[in-house]
Amino acid sequence: MTNIAFIGLGNMGSGMCVNLVKAGHKVKAFDLSPDAIRAAETNGAIAASGIQDAVSDAECVVTMLPAGKHVLEVYFGEHGITSSAPQNAVLIDCSTIAVEDARRAAENAKAAGFLMVDAPVSGGTAAADAGTLTFMVGGPDEGFAKAKPVLDAMGKNVFHAGAAGNGQVAKIANNMLLGISMIGTCEAFNLAEKLGLDAQTFFDIASTASGQCWSMTSYCPSPGPVPAAPSNRDYQPGFAVAMMLKDLKLAAGAADEAGANIEFGKLAEATYQKLSEDGFGGLDFSGVMKRVKDEI
Ligand code: NAD
Repeated sequence: MTNIAFIGLGNMGSGMCVNLVKAGHKVKAFDLSPDAIRAAETNGAIAASGIQDAVSDAECVVTMLPAGKHVLEVYFGEHGITSSAPQNAVLIDCSTIAVEDARRAAENAKAAGFLMVDAPVSGGTAAADAGTLTFMVGGPDEGFAKAKPVLDAMGKNVFHAGAAGNGQVAKIANNMLLGISMIGTCEAFNLAEKLGLDAQTFFDIASTASGQCWSMTSYCPSPGPVPAAPSNRDYQPGFAVAMMLKDLKLAAGAADEAGANIEFGKLAEATYQKLSEDGFGGLDFSGVMKRVKDEI
């Protein structure tokens, strides 16, 4: 059993926190929302009155926050984690944030005497609840070794991606590919249908041919071939347009910093930006099919 502080009990963090409790850890939970803390308490966590209280005897701190500014504030603000936690505590940030912010956070934490890793996740709320997330971890070997048993209780795959920030690199590069491949899959299914080939027949062929990809075989944006896909429930998420847009913006910002050419990544960003501006931020990201078909 490890003393764990869990901060950020939202859509993802709530389920992750429960899985740490179920694994037998003593978990002190904090969020700005009292309702979220109460829900965690009902599920066996100990309610904390603030960050200081949550981390005061922690051996491990896990955060699952909306964006980089929240992470930097919670770790390094007044009464933040690094001014309140025992120095031997390993710090694990599971939020999706900019590579640059993750690297800055790791450096600040190191300067304050802490081991910190970035460990963003792949998988949505269903995977968070089921404990089947994939974690992509950036940080030193020692940090990874300390974080792994905790992450194992919340996920089914835990990868060490290299030095600080590399977890975020893996996450945004993967999701940029996903954004591009989803739009390509939508265009391919629409083209096939317009030319007289039904979705199921095209799926049967392309899913065993060179166009095969996850967007097609696990998440087909055309209704029918993959029954569990959001396309069969009018594109209710799943993984919303707004979340995909967040990740594509992070990828674009990091690419500019690094001087990497991501022409199609930026086209994907513009496509999801327009969908969001038009009021479809809550649609599943595979709902780009509706735009390709000129339905929205
Ligand atoms: P969310 O907005 O539902 O939850 C964030 C929680 O953090 C909220 O409950 C909020 O009250 C809390 N919070 C904010 N500032 C705080 C502070 N200063 N102190 C304490 N608590 C604070 O977000 P989410 O959907 O759970 O996503 C969390 C992270 O996971 C994001 O970075 C997101 O990009 C990433 N992510 C989400 C999904 C998904 O499907 N939702 C999938 C993969 C990754």
